[in-house]
Amino acid sequence: MSVSNVLAQPVSEIKGIGKETEEALNEMGIETIEDLLHHFPFRYEDYRLRDLAEVKHDEKVTVEGKVHSEPSLTYYSRKKSRLTFRLLVGRYLITAICFNRPYLKNQLSINETVTITGKWDQHRQAITVQELKKGSFTEKQEIEPVYSTRGSVTVKGMRRFIALALQQFGHTIVDPLPPAIRQKYRLLSKAEALRAIHFPRTHEDLKQARRRLVYEEFLFFQLKIQALRKFHREHSAGIAHTFSDEQLQLFIEQLPFPLTGAQKRVVAEILEDMKSPYRMNRLLQGDVGSGKTVVACIALYATVLSGYQGALMVPTEILAEQHAESIRRLLEPMNVSVQLLTSSVKGKRRKEVLEKLASGEIDIIIGTHALIQEEVNFHKLGLVITDEQHRFGVEQRRILREKGQSPDVLFMTATPIPRTLAITAFGEMDVSIIDEMPAGRKKVETYWVKHDMLERVLAFIEKEIRKGRQAYVICPLIEESEKLDVQNAIDVHSMLTHYYRGKYRIGLMHGRLSSEEKEQVMKAFSNNEVQILVSTTVVEVGVNVPNATVMLIYDAERFGLAQLHQLRGRVGRGSEQSYCILLADPKSETGKERMRIMTETNDGFVLSEKDLELRGPGDFFGTKQSGLPEFKLGDMVHDYRILEAARNDAAKLIQSNVFWSDESYKLLRQSLEQSGILSGEKLD
Ligand code: ADP
Ligand code: MG
Repeated sequence: MSVSNVLAQPVSEIKGIGKETEEALNEMGIETIEDLLHHFPFRYEDYRLRDLAEVKHDEKVTVEGKVHSEPSLTYYSRKKSRLTFRLLVGRYLITAICFNRPYLKNQLSINETVTITGKWDQHRQAITVQELKKGSFTEKQEIEPVYSTRGSVTVKGMRRFIALALQQFGHTIVDPLPPAIRQKYRLLSKAEALRAIHFPRTHEDLKQARRRLVYEEFLFFQLKIQALRKFHREHSAGIAHTFSDEQLQLFIEQLPFPLTGAQKRVVAEILEDMKSPYRMNRLLQGDVGSGKTVVACIALYATVLSGYQGALMVPTEILAEQHAESIRRLLEPMNVSVQLLTSSVKGKRRKEVLEKLASGEIDIIIGTHALIQEEVNFHKLGLVITDEQHRFGVEQRRILREKGQSPDVLFMTATPIPRTLAITAFGEMDVSIIDEMPAGRKKVETYWVKHDMLERVLAFIEKEIRKGRQAYVICPLIEESEKLDVQNAIDVHSMLTHYYRGKYRIGLMHGRLSSEEKEQVMKAFSNNEVQILVSTTVVEVGVNVPNATVMLIYDAERFGLAQLHQLRGRVGRGSEQSYCILLADPKSETGKERMRIMTETNDGFVLSEKDLELRGPGDFFGTKQSGLPEFKLGDMVHDYRILEAARNDAAKLIQSNVFWSDESYKLLRQSLEQSGILSGEKLD
């Protein structure tokens, strides 16, 4: 048996683990010795003596001290009592509190040394004692691992099994990381790391073990992603678009504005992908208002010039209509036929659109989920673009893509994706970033006000309307109940109607309206027939009414930063100064923190990094289908430096000869082979 196979044996090979234990461990999904060694503690009990200055409120701690006062005992009832005494711990004089141990009163004497374990109450400078031992226990300086367990397996048992496994098989642990990498980061060997993650001697020991194992976990993951990327490039037979650069250039030159530098750069990146024979798989990130639509439009025109059809899928009908309108305006003069397909395109009209799409008479189709229905067939689909792509599931994106023969794919998002997520959730994609705003944009001024300031805010809105401007008023989304949500909007609408006494027209928009009704309201707002639009968050994405200069957000603390930023992006789209007013009385610290951050920065990338910190990766996209991987030990947010290092290493390795041939990379190569990526099974 080769050394590396030893650990693949069942746990019963460990002396001291019998049939019964084996079964119990199997129940927990632990079959092999390796599984057992990779069952990491989820936390540690720290019995080492610590300096109270370092201990946080409510943390469990063990201290040694000298009894400094006569214990005093109080009974609450016959069985319930509380005993307190002063304890001198180093330079601290603290209070020790023991519940229901009245007998201690006669056992403790002044100046006697005791060791106690319990929760530290920093405010009262007191410890509620869980364990008390007489004397000094400096020998018990240890950190004990705590494991998740099930069935008959106890935490103590788990500790013993793992100790036995390490004892018997520790010397057979082989290191999948080559010496070159280990030396580069001064990482512990795999054997040392496993020993230390289970039985750390010091905090530093534990830290080094984690660092090593997290790196390994991230590297495995990133190698897979980078391999996917490489094999995608080499094996995906995509469309090599051919179009005349001059013709495209002519189109770009007659746009109503010159492209920004960033737009030019991303257009070049996209066009190069489209010309190449492999299938484009690109993510286009650009903050709200950075001008992604025109970039999409240029790419769509390029596919049409090479004889293909293009599709743009967006998450809401309003957005589909707006995109259809602006793209039609730009492309119809070039003799390109642009059509809209949403669920409100019905009957005869729908039939006609579907027919013309299948026959190739329609060049570009813009729509919602309606585009991925079975009845939708293309003549020759060359390019698929999805806007706000994280709102669509992986599956929906796949269906649309499969309506063509390996069409090029471009995902657009206005949610600036923090780097850590970009290299995990979207690691296998190429990324283009628009990091520059069109010239002449004014920064939206953002204010955070309490609800009792509402009257002043309404007066301010009136002032803006008198100048000819318009305002959005956003009511909070109530997750649990769309009904309450709608009611909220209705209430605010009637309150405002009452307040402004019919001087202005106030529109109402929410998810319960039919799409025709929504469209009507939106049109009226676009044409300034309605001055104030009260809405739920349905206007969050993409909506473009440049004359609107005020965005008032009720209960702003209920929204995430990314969402607030999206909402704020609805104003500041014209040449006038715009304002975003956050109406909020947040109770929590993070709520307050979010409001502060909003008033301090307009930079979507800064906000998204903060949002990730405050909410964690799981909540970031707000959807389950975001494709975020789960790591056993690594934490994308806190370990992001390690993640970044692993990603850079993986990218280099996959491109290098050494990785594919050198003996020292054999185990890493094996992990890729086992994942099926190398044989192309997992290309999507
Ligand atoms: P987003 O990236 O949020 O989708 P849009 O594509 O809707 O942004 O663009 C926002 C506004 O900026 C639109 O009115 C668009 O016409 C305008 N715009 C886009 N690019 C430029 C540019 N290079 N110069 C000036 N205005 C631009
Ligand atoms: Mg957009």
